[in-house]
Amino acid sequence: MNDLLQPLRNMVERYDKHKRLEWTQELITIYEESRRIIADCQQLFLMDENARITLQTDASDFGTGGYLFQKVDNMVQVIMCISKALVGAQLRWSVREKECYGIFYCFKVLEDMLKHVKFHLKTDHKNLVYINCALTGKVARWKLYMQDWNFTVSWVEGQEEHQQVPDKLSRLVSNPEETETSIDTETAVLAVAVAQVAISDAEYAIISSQHNAIRGHSGVDVTLNRLRNGGYTFPNLELKVRTFIRKCPLCQLTSQIKSLVKAQNFTTAFQVICADHFRNTRKDTSTHW
Ligand SMILES: [Zn+2]
Repeated sequence: MNDLLQPLRNMVERYDKHKRLEWTQELITIYEESRRIIADCQQLFLMDENARITLQTDASDFGTGGYLFQKVDNMVQVIMCISKALVGAQLRWSVREKECYGIFYCFKVLEDMLKHVKFHLKTDHKNLVYINCALTGKVARWKLYMQDWNFTVSWVEGQEEHQQVPDKLSRLVSNPEETETSIDTETAVLAVAVAQVAISDAEYAIISSQHNAIRGHSGVDVTLNRLRNGGYTFPNLELKVRTFIRKCPLCQLTSQIKSLVKAQNFTTAFQVICADHFRNTRKDTSTHW
């Protein structure tokens, strides 16, 4: 679309209101073509919590796809489409793991919308109907994340009416050959969990002198700075401080009760923030809002 519109942008780049724009046949064709593409865009709907909401997911060798829709008056209304390329180690996962990850990823993306409503999950992999079966490692973590959600699950044939959508979305990914050498998030989480070191009594006393009820339960960076400024240093200082804070009972407690803030940080001065609201909406004859 961007490339298609470029000639139109070029035309208005040095727009002079005293001169007529030169509409060549080529520009007219581009204009008509872009109008057609925009008109053909999939229409998206706001979620209606009273409707039957269905999430369908699928995975291909190279990606995962998700399709969220609802049925209102027997009409299918698309709410959101999700497509995600698998990278690095994810490409070597088993089919089952890729399928599970596809569901987990869609849940993550749709958390704000779906966490507190009842919906139906459909997926084309038979094994996933047995969502309660015990699995180890990352798949178990994904299932743990999903277990308090309010949803029903069923298996769906690959040829089923809507299943072709997530199926296509899971293939709508670029550079399947490209592999990423950096650690993916799942492995990274695992890496943090195991990267703990033994802290000697003397080191423990030093760190606790800078991270306590009086000095404050500050984070890793602040505690590290305090230690360095105080002239304290020993091997693996950062890792030990990190381990110390992760095991600090009060920090564990406060990290759990900290309310989830679902907002973007605005830290730059004079940053422009746009806001909008709507009210008193009514359905028109074609049930659009
Ligand atoms: Zn603490």
